[in-house]
Amino acid sequence: MPKYCTMEAYRFSRERKSSGTVVDVSGVKVGGREIVIAAGPCSVESEEQLMDTAKGVIGAGAGIIRGGAFKPRTSPYSFQGLGKEGLGILKEAGRRFDVPIVTELMDTGLVELYSRDVDLIQVGARNSQNFDMLKRLGKQKRPVLLKNGTGTSVQEWLMSSEYVLSEGNSSVILCYRGAKSIEGATRFSMDMGAIAMARKLSHMLICVDPSHAAGRREFVAPMALAAIAAGADMLEIEVHNDPDKALSDREQQLSIGEFEELMNRARDVAKAVGRSIRKG
Ligand code: PEP
Ligand code: MN
Repeated sequence: MPKYCTMEAYRFSRERKSSGTVVDVSGVKVGGREIVIAAGPCSVESEEQLMDTAKGVIGAGAGIIRGGAFKPRTSPYSFQGLGKEGLGILKEAGRRFDVPIVTELMDTGLVELYSRDVDLIQVGARNSQNFDMLKRLGKQKRPVLLKNGTGTSVQEWLMSSEYVLSEGNSSVILCYRGAKSIEGATRFSMDMGAIAMARKLSHMLICVDPSHAAGRREFVAPMALAAIAAGADMLEIEVHNDPDKALSDREQQLSIGEFEELMNRARDVAKAVGRSIRKG
């Protein structure tokens, strides 16, 4: 942290608030002993795909449905998401299954729409230092799920959260999604030390996204279980009703069966570290 500012000066700081942070996501409380699981596809692709997936993940115990409507893709020629139509499908799933929804905000101009329609507004890795977007999100009331940038430090990530907190919105959940490294075995490296550091410096809740870090289906479960052991309060996991046909992030999305298996193992690991998985 900059020398000119003591840690207590920051709203995210554990020196300012030692424990007890809870973020209410439309009735699903994140924080405390229970770990909340958000799950769903990388992208909303169709009504059938999302409803099938939502049914499967909620049946397995997920408490929040995820799905990308506006997608940040590296190539402009890749599937860009269904946009507002996708958001509509996600909203309908939230209503039908009576669970909150989380989806990524890509355009600061859509903050008003998202704050009306979305229970938990995700800021993705690419916008994690879009300070104008963060300030706008600080001026509205919906909780924010703030990912780390792929090349930002823990301190920079915490500073991004301060942009939201300092504008008056205290409902921020940090989401660790791995960072760039020289390792090529996984898509991004998941640094357990980064999670430990964020928990030391900040009272804010930590979600872990093992899917984007793993990049490969077979690594999602071990990384998710490690995240629980490292103290995660929430996990966000990509699940697809037919992963081999997914229009984005095909290699890393779990099938519903794989997700069910992961949830069973997650319950055991959570118990071993004095936590439990919230019943969805
Ligand atoms: C996502 O969760 O859909 C996503 C694009 O993640 P990230 O911003 O971490 O790449
Ligand atoms: Mn994805």
